Order: sequence, then structure tokens, then C-alpha cells
Amino acid sequence: MIAPGSWLGLLGGGQLGRMFAMAAQSMGYKVMVLDPGADSPAGSVADHHIQADYLNRAALEELAKHCKAATTEFENVPADSLTFLAQHCLVSPSAQSVAIAQDRIREKRFLASIGIGVGPFAVIESEAELHQVDAAALLPGILKLSRLGYDGKGQICVRTPEELRSAYARFGGKPCVLERMLDLALEVSVVVVRDFGGDIVTFPVSENEHLNGILDLTIVPARVEENIAAQARDATVRVTQALDYRGVLCVEYFLLHDGQLLANEIAPRPHNSGHYTIDACVTSQFEQQARVLAKLPLGDTALHCPAAMVNILGDAWAKGEPDWRTVLATPRAKLHLYGKSEARPGRKMGHFTILGDEATSVVSTARDIRARLLSGATP
Ligand code: ADP
Ligand code: MG
Repeated sequence: MIAPGSWLGLLGGGQLGRMFAMAAQSMGYKVMVLDPGADSPAGSVADHHIQADYLNRAALEELAKHCKAATTEFENVPADSLTFLAQHCLVSPSAQSVAIAQDRIREKRFLASIGIGVGPFAVIESEAELHQVDAAALLPGILKLSRLGYDGKGQICVRTPEELRSAYARFGGKPCVLERMLDLALEVSVVVVRDFGGDIVTFPVSENEHLNGILDLTIVPARVEENIAAQARDATVRVTQALDYRGVLCVEYFLLHDGQLLANEIAPRPHNSGHYTIDACVTSQFEQQARVLAKLPLGDTALHCPAAMVNILGDAWAKGEPDWRTVLATPRAKLHLYGKSEARPGRKMGHFTILGDEATSVVSTARDIRARLLSGATP
């Protein structure tokens, strides 16, 4: 075990890193963040912030010199940086598992190879493959850049072969996957944690609603049949074991109207749909990340009560600083802000979680507060 008081390293300075740092610090660890930004959400709460590029060798050496273990908070961290760190300290997740999850082509092939259902798709890595696309099977569809997309970025909806060609050209001919646009009944996700000894625990299945490709609302427990929830948990455990994954991971799923559950994507880190765990579970996903890294026993993932989490985007600042009493005067509501100074539309600025006795009322309270925050109404 890595003793409290030791340094833990973190690549990335976003809100996921901030919540990891706060969880690790509450257990007595010191956190060193490597991030190029001057005042990042994680950098500003870290015990030490190295402001440098993720591939900067001197910065990685400094991190490796002080930290007994290191982790990451976003999947686009260069796999090379993790490989370098792994020569000096414990690293979770591994460069290999991150490399699969950060590349949609590899990710889809990996999921299919272990027998997990994915929707109809085609890999497009060349003009030749572009022209071979089975338009009848895959259009209307979504062309997704294989690498570096997030929150719906790097995706273009395409209805016709002409639109597909111009979208591929707009992406500069970079490797892409074309997915058929599916008629979704629901989206769910499962956050799972696996430690260095192979112990594995899953969090409750969450139900997710997206708006413009960005997560808007998470409801827990997901309002799905128990057999669907069990399938999602089992598939997530299989993915985690097949990757020999160490750390916190999330798998997103599409549920179709005929009951088919298809894997959408893998996030090799704590996930936005797991933010509710901070307030609604015995152990949060961020505390689990710290526990894995420090080789401590995994915590209990039990849910205290039904919960709904809403993302607060920069759009809520349209009429100036939102009136936070809207959230805070609500019984059993918890507010989390990420300390970002500039509120831009679509930018994740924070989230709030509503706790309650049953899913229907937490969802309606959450939607009501969300609407009032966005309209700028006073409580
Ligand atoms: P990101 O990396 O931005 O999260 P996703 O592939 O998860 O990218 O897409 C974001 C959201 O867009 C999904 O959660 C879903 O709501 C919608 N979406 C993505 N792919 C499809 C699809 N093939 N059919 C229907 N909706 C989709
Ligand atoms: Mg996604």
C-alpha cells in the first residue's frame, strides 16, 4: 500500500482531475498535476501543479521523481506519457488500455472481438473505403473521427453519400468510423473499478440523457428491467477483464426499442455519468480511483438513495452569474462547481445532484431546477 502523505500524480487538469484530487487529498495524499493550462480546475486544487505539455520529458521526470503512482483524467492523454511514467512508478490505467479507448476504430474492433454487441458501423481510413460504404445499411449515420472527439465534438450527421463524402473531407480525410444513426430507447452506462489484485466492483447502472451530444441528465438507478441492468453490468465486467484494466472505467450503452443492448464507447477514467456517486454512494468513483492507485481496498459502491445529476453548462451564465440559491435552497440538493473562470456555451462548469426517495420525483425536481437555472429566474 502507498501510505497517506505520499504524492500521487495526475495527467490532466480538468474537472475529473479536480474531483480526483479532492478525494485523494481527503484521504491524506498529496496530488501533483501535470497540465499545460495556467489555472485549470485540477491544477488550482493540486498540492503542486507542473504547467507543461503532457509529452514534456522534464515535466514527466519531475512527476515520476516525486510520485509513487500516477493516473490520468482524460482519454486523450498521450499513451507515450503513460508508458514513460510506467518505467518509474505505478500507473493506472495502462497505456495499452488507454490506447484502445482513445481510438474508436480499435475500440469497436476490441468490443466485437470479445463478443460485445455494437451497432452497425464501417471503418473509413481511405477514399477507397469511403466509396465502399454500404449506404443502405449505414445511412442516415454519424461520421465520427476515430481520435480526439469528446462531448459530441468530431461528429457529423450524414444522410446521403454526398454528405458523407463532404463530412469526410471536412475531417481532412483522417481515420473515421461511420455509425448508423440508431433509434435509441434509452442510454445507460456502468462505471466499474478494478484494482491491481484483480478485485472488481461496479456502480449502479445509470440512465443518461444527452442534449446536443453532451450529457445533460443522469438518473440512478436506471429505469430499465433488471435483466438489462444485469447485462450491462456483465458486459462492463467482461470489457474490464479483457483489457486487464486497473482503475476506474465506464462503458456507455445504447438500448434499442427491441431490447437490444449495444456498447457505444469506453471511457478509461471516471465518467460524467458517475458524478452522482459523490453524493449518492458510500464511495465515490474518484475515491475509488485514489484507492486503486494507492493499492487500498476498494470501497463499497452501494447507493444510499435514488439520485439525479444535471450538468451545468456555460449556457446558464447567459444573464450573468446564476442564482445558486435555486439549487442550494432545495432540500437534498448538492452543488459542485469546477472553478472555471470563463463560462462559454456548451462548456461544463459544474453539476448538481438531487437525492430523494424515488426516481420520478428526483428527476422532476432536477428538471425543474435545471429550467430555472437556465432561465435566470430567482428562487
Ligand atoms: P462522445 O465521445 O462525444 O461522448 P459518443 O459517441 O458517445 O461521443 O456520442 C455522444 C452522444 O451522441 C451519444 O451519447 C448519443 O446520445 C449520440 N449518438 C452517438 N452515436 C449515435 C448513434 N450511432 N445513434 C444514435 N445516437 C448516437
Ligand atoms: Mg460518449
